[in-house]
Amino acid sequence: MEIQFLGTSSGVPTNCRNVSGTALVQSKGKAWYLIDCGEGTQHQLLRSHLSLGALEAVFLTHLHGDHCYGLPGVLATAGLNGRTKPLKIIAPEGAEEWIALTRRISQLHLPYQLEFEQPDSKVLNECGQFSVSAVKLAHRITSYAYVFVEKNVQSSLNMTKIQAAGIPQGPLLGKLQSGEDVVHNGILRKAVEYTDTAKKPRKIIISGDNENPDLLEADCRDCDLLIHESTFTADMADRAKAVGHSYAKSIASFAERLSVPNLILTHISARFPNSDAIQKEASDHYSGNLYVASDFDRFKLNKHSVLDFIGAFDS
Ligand SMILES: [Zn+2]
Repeated sequence: MEIQFLGTSSGVPTNCRNVSGTALVQSKGKAWYLIDCGEGTQHQLLRSHLSLGALEAVFLTHLHGDHCYGLPGVLATAGLNGRTKPLKIIAPEGAEEWIALTRRISQLHLPYQLEFEQPDSKVLNECGQFSVSAVKLAHRITSYAYVFVEKNVQSSLNMTKIQAAGIPQGPLLGKLQSGEDVVHNGILRKAVEYTDTAKKPRKIIISGDNENPDLLEADCRDCDLLIHESTFTADMADRAKAVGHSYAKSIASFAERLSVPNLILTHISARFPNSDAIQKEASDHYSGNLYVASDFDRFKLNKHSVLDFIGAFDS
């Protein structure tokens, strides 16, 4: 599965960072999920390989403008592009009312249904390859992290052993892969002997604005990747607390304590001309695989939960 950053600035866009937007792309097919949709997100999408037709759902972490003012434009363009498939929007209370008012006043007709849900329950919904739940955070308004856990993780077949046993291609292999023992030529073939040990489902947490990383402790214990804001550095800890944000040391120390293997920091204050100060401070407090995201950066979390930077897409 892949992550692509569409906007990595906090509050306001800069000449190299747009406001928040993150795409999570499934490992099979083109389906993807948009987490936050700051103003200009649809322009950023034009410079990506992502298509609005393949957008499965939009998740808004909170309703501050730098995380949602791009949504009406994305919805309108998807309609003009001919989308007919319903679109899920998972967002805090108020989003449905806001979009309904915007549609009425601007006479926005959409040729597809919007299906709103609020991130109140622990298990939100089944979204394609993922089960998604929400964690309430600490910010000036209601803000959530979304926890994406891979579903239907299949064991992989050990083809060397299968070929050595002479088990043919076909339904028997499907049964072995789903954990079922089979009989072949009168011999019991145990699934456990012909598949690699069951894989742990991959778990990705994409957080909204949050001044208290400890709120994510339970979910971070077994996560493979945490994407979290780092608006400031520690010299602005007082300011961070006053406005409900994290800083590089606070989130990096948290990730270190929980042994989070992969950490990507985003939502960088416009006061930082580049990511050097954030990167330096975070790496002083975190020994895992660390990145500070830039717009259009793409990352791949492979089947073994190894995260790699795979380049910046900017056509
Ligand atoms: Zn923000």
